[in-house]
Amino acid sequence: MAPTPIPATLATASPAPGPGPSSEHGPRASPIGEIRRSPPAVLGVAVLGSTGSIGTSTLDVIAAAPERFRPHLLAAHTSVAAILAQAALHRPDWVVITDPRAAAGIGTGALPAGTRLAVGPDALDELVGAPEVDRVVSAIVGAAGLRSTWAALEAGKTVALANKETLVMAGPLAMRLAAERGATLLPVDSEHSAIHQALRSGTSDEVARLILTASGGPFRTRSRESLAAVTPQEALCHPTWSMGPKITVDSATMMNKALELVEARWLFDLPGEKLAVVVHPQSVVHSMVEFVDGSVLAQLSPPDMKLPIQYALSHPSRHDGPARRLDFAASLRLDFEPPDPQRFPAVRLGHEAATRGGTCGAVLNAANEEAVKRFLAGGMRFTDIAEVCARVLDGHAFQAEPSLDDIRRLDGWARQEVAKWASA
Ligand code: NAD
Ligand code: MG
Repeated sequence: MAPTPIPATLATASPAPGPGPSSEHGPRASPIGEIRRSPPAVLGVAVLGSTGSIGTSTLDVIAAAPERFRPHLLAAHTSVAAILAQAALHRPDWVVITDPRAAAGIGTGALPAGTRLAVGPDALDELVGAPEVDRVVSAIVGAAGLRSTWAALEAGKTVALANKETLVMAGPLAMRLAAERGATLLPVDSEHSAIHQALRSGTSDEVARLILTASGGPFRTRSRESLAAVTPQEALCHPTWSMGPKITVDSATMMNKALELVEARWLFDLPGEKLAVVVHPQSVVHSMVEFVDGSVLAQLSPPDMKLPIQYALSHPSRHDGPARRLDFAASLRLDFEPPDPQRFPAVRLGHEAATRGGTCGAVLNAANEEAVKRFLAGGMRFTDIAEVCARVLDGHAFQAEPSLDDIRRLDGWARQEVAKWASA
């Protein structure tokens, strides 16, 4: 039986070295058999959300390999001072500020010679499709990231996807668009990058299940009763990862794992039943693939996003880079435990959304985004986040095959429902 192909939009194994045209950085066999490296082409990178946690790590990766990457475009929403400082250092061709009010005060001479300024989301959508862009790093946080990711896919680009919300909200539509336009999605989320790497060891019909690891967040060992009193400050202290505030709260509720289950469902085209979560507090095993014969392949590295970012930029090759290394000279302990559904009910919502599909991901994502905003503003208890998400998910008008308009409408509806929620 012929193996089921991995979705065409998700690049997989690198081609075997051999005669024929060299790839971007690919090895080429000489006539007498030794492998010669052709000089790598310098890839123009568009960094969407350059001032955020993923964005700044991306610029570290780019700066460490100027012979491979150059920053063509940096984009942020309101963090003008930060992006101007980045422009002075990295000298991109374009800086885009998506919030026109934030851009209003930028004077002439604020940008280095050779860097141009563009303002507003329309400008970003257009510039992302420019021929100088070889890779797009989609690292805007939340539903706001969907639009520019969509524009990149429409332009047929290779997208290094950190913005998991794109796939959570509109997975089937985004994957279809990518296939139609010849675009490629490469995961930046560490779990999906680990799975993507492990999948190079087998075909998709040899996969029994994907096992996503979760750190368990700062409240892994806290009692259920004490969770209601958690403050935003406590939730913003992650034990292993340094990330933006929204995803840090999502890690504390474990809603991040719920979103990642939905992301994996569409990215790897596997049914929800083949997705599992295991808590692994050290965040060294970034996820695993169990194959049909029982063999489990994992990817290990210290918790440092520079590695999955670099892998998504350099794929299908690998090269030396700034990510931290594991030190096997020191003792290393790896623990695994099942997630506790009583204390972390968000994980169940992720399984439900991944299994039912349709509008579930968009509704769960919007409800959670709004609930996290309210929690961080002091207007909602920590434990209300998963509770309100469950209510909104249960109460929504489910559609199996929504359009982008349906998704946008339900996103707005879910946010309004959360705004109405009053803590018991
Ligand atoms: P962050 O809050 O640190 O940065 C967000 C970036 O998005 C900033 O540059 C900001 O200017 C920009 N932005 C915010 N709102 C915007 C809008 N309306 N329009 C345009 N730009 C806007 O976020 P982060 O932690 O870097 O996360 C970015 C994305 O990567 C999220 O989708 C997150 O889930 C995902 N991710 C992050 C990590 C991590 O380690 N931080 C890991 C895996 C996945
Ligand atoms: Mg992750």
